[in-house]
Order: sequence, then C-alpha cells, then structure tokens
Amino acid sequence: MAEPRYLLRTFGCQMNEHDSERIAGLLTADGYVATEEAADANVVVFNTCAIRENADNRLYGNLGHLRPLKQANPRMRIVVAGCLAQKDGGTIRERAPWVDVVVGTHALPGLIELLHRAETEGPQLDVREQTEIFPSALPALREVAHHAWVSIAVGCDNACTFCIVPLVRGPQLSRPIGDVLAEVQGLARRGVVEITLLGQNVNTYGRDLTVPRSAQRPLFADLLRAVNRVEGLRRIRFTSPHPHDFTPDVIDAMAESDKVCEHIHFPLQSGSDRVLRAMHRSYRRERYLGWLERIRAAIPGIAVSTDIIVGFPGESEEDFEDTLDVVRRARFDQAYTFQYSPRPGTRAAEMEGQLDKPEVQERFDRLVALQEAIALERMREQVGSSAEVLIEGLGRKGGAQGRTRGNRVVHVGGEHAPGTFLDVRIVGAHPHHLEGELAERREHAAVG
Ligand code: SAM
Ligand code: SF4
Repeated sequence: MAEPRYLLRTFGCQMNEHDSERIAGLLTADGYVATEEAADANVVVFNTCAIRENADNRLYGNLGHLRPLKQANPRMRIVVAGCLAQKDGGTIRERAPWVDVVVGTHALPGLIELLHRAETEGPQLDVREQTEIFPSALPALREVAHHAWVSIAVGCDNACTFCIVPLVRGPQLSRPIGDVLAEVQGLARRGVVEITLLGQNVNTYGRDLTVPRSAQRPLFADLLRAVNRVEGLRRIRFTSPHPHDFTPDVIDAMAESDKVCEHIHFPLQSGSDRVLRAMHRSYRRERYLGWLERIRAAIPGIAVSTDIIVGFPGESEEDFEDTLDVVRRARFDQAYTFQYSPRPGTRAAEMEGQLDKPEVQERFDRLVALQEAIALERMREQVGSSAEVLIEGLGRKGGAQGRTRGNRVVHVGGEHAPGTFLDVRIVGAHPHHLEGELAERREHAAVG
C-alpha cells in the first residue's frame, strides 16, 4: 500500500516555519510522505499566521479552494494549525465546516492523536491555553540539512498595542538553558552548521527561569556564550531583540563570540516618539539610535535589519516624517515594512484615528522608495570586499544562492551544494542581493 501523503502550507514568521518543521516531523514519524499536490494529499495542513488581516482572507480562500476536493474525496483530512487556529478556534469550523482538525499553537504535540481521533469521532478542536512541550522538542523534518531554528522561548510578556502575538502565543515561557544546549549539540553532531535562536523578545530570555542551586537567572548573553562553545557549529543567529530590553552585555557577548554572525534584527516600528508611546514600545527614537551606534562601534560592519509599521492609528504626516528621518539616520541594510492592520482584540484596533488605506499606501510607498535607495547604497559598499557565503540552494537565474554572515543574499555562478561554505569576492550590488565571484572553494559542510 502506498504511503499516505501530506501537503503543508506555511504562512507568517520564523516561529511558524519552525513549527512547520515539527508538523512535517510528526507526520513523517507517523508514516506520511510530503506532496505538493492537494489532489494527491491524504492530509492538507495550513499553518497559519494572525499578524495581519489578509492572513484570514488567505486562509478562507485556500479552504474554499479545497472544498470541492474534499467533497470528491471525503477521506481527505484538512488541518488548520498555528496562530489563527489559536485565535479563532471554533469560528474556523463555523466558516469552513469541512475542516477536520483545528490545532492551536500550544496543542501541536497532539496533532497525530487529533488526526486519528478525527477518523473515528469526527472534527477535532484543541486550542488549549498552555504550552506543555516546546515545539523544538518534537521530531523535525527540516527543509535544509545545514540550518536549524531553535526555539529559546515562546510567547511574549509585552503588550505592544498593535500586536496579536501575546493573545495567540501566551505569556513568555523560556526553555531551560540545558535543553537548548542539548538540542544545539545534537544538531551540530548531525551536521547543522548554522542555527537561528528564536524568541519574540530574546533579551528577556530566562526571566522566568532559575539556575538550579543558585539565585541567578540565565541571561540571553549567557546563552549566546554557551551556544558559541558548541563544537561543529559555525554560525549563530537570533531573532528578535527588543530595543527596550536591550543590554550592553548582549553587545559584549556578540562581539566576543566568534560564531555569532555580524547581523542584528532590531525592530524600530516607528521613528515618532508619540507613536512609539501609543504603541506601548517603551524606548524612544534617540535611545534606539544610541543603541545602534553602540552596536556598530562594538561590532564593525554589522548589518542591521528592522521592522517598521506605517499608518498606526493617529499617525500624522509629522510622525511619519520622523520615521523617515530615523530611517535616513539608521541606514538599515534591510527593512520589513508593514501597513498597520487592525487586529480585533488588540488595543490599537479600538483607537481613534484609524487611517484610510490610500493615505497609508502613499506613506508606505515613500518609505519603501527611501529604504530601497538606502539598501542599494549599503549593498554597493560591499562591492570589492570578500565574504564567506554559506550556500542555501539554487539561484533564481542559475548558479547558487547563499548568505554572508551579515545575512546578505549572494548569487554565485556554478553548482554548489547547500551547506557549502565559499570564499567569495563581491562584484555587483542590487537592493536585495549581491553578486559574488568564487575566490576559493573552502569546504563542504558535513550534513547527514
Ligand atoms: N516580537 C517582535 C518584535 O517585538 O519586534 C515582533 C514579532 S511580529 C511576528 C513581526 C512584525 O510584524 C512586528 O515587528 C511588526 O512590525 C509587524 N506587525 C505586528 N502586528 C502588526 C499589525 N497589527 N499590523 C502591521 N504589522 C504588524
Ligand atoms: Fe508583539 Fe510586542 Fe511581543 Fe513583539 S514584543 S511579539 S511586537 S507584543
């Protein structure tokens, strides 16, 4: 008998990509194999995101497309997992009664059991409120063998007024440092050379933990130093630090730890102090810029990326100009720009002064144009330099594609397997990628 097949679609951030590796791992351990064709699939899983509104529309659109397939093949199981599942729970089954399993962010470990129960008992819903097992502790099926996401904390204790995350992921729960290290050591033994530590606010990692037989709490800087000592690992990344909780010991740990890459994702959200206050982001523009200066002084050449929201309720033209001003001064290498999207249940969704779409779009376009120009300037500064590139896969126009330690995408000619480290000379620049020429083939990362 042919193995059962699953189709998995992931929406949203790295946390969701990380959870999807676990969903794939759980299904594989249960005997499933992956397919890209919905018509072939015994199980279709949507791992959803709730950060912006269009995520809902996309999910219901996708579920609508599946409906005729499900009617033709009633044994096909449809699963909705992730943040929208956690947030909307029963509503999903009301709007799309052909869904078989709704599994929230905390209930992922029970996915297989829910699928089995759906066979005999009909539709299942599990949107429990508490995480009992970290997703990282579940079996994983990773897309690339040389890189792994490692969750160090789930949930968030902040209350940014625009953000749905605390509602769908719950309060922060840090993973004991020993568990994180054991996972990273195991990954390194299996040939993983690059890891990304994941948490909504990595700086508050450990606040909810105690070190056995000590009054101290492990700090993020301690974790970075400990992970840096793991043999076989070559690159450490992390996302995201919150500018409010950022501390000098993290800069010291980054500067001292040779495996920690020269890149930081440092979410600004807005350059206006008034808007930052309304967002409940408790740093201010000058403090943010001050941190950037210190980080750049301690780690020369570090690349900086950020998140920016345009059109927060009440944002005036002057507030927006403040954001443009910070963007000009910060000279980000990359910015993820978002149009504000009201999320029911968040404080900002109830605020007065919700802006019209055309106004937000016009500001958004100006921000993107400015940032694109800065990104190109920053990329051009790289031309003529040498860089270590870790190959990730095929380039879009032939050749291979990888990343520098500064997280810059580089296209290189020739065939190079994912996981290969190359020494490359940078010969061309575009806003979102560089062109490199092979200086020397260094080695192939052992992936197994
Ligand atoms: N914990 C991270 C932090 O504090 O920076 C953010 C995590 S969130 C998954 C990623 C980004 O989505 C945020 O930094 C923010 O820019 C954006 N975002 C969150 N809620 C949003 C909303 N309601 N509308 C538009 N963008 C939003
Ligand atoms: Fe959301 Fe703010 Fe927590 Fe980030 S820090 S996840 S933006 S509430």
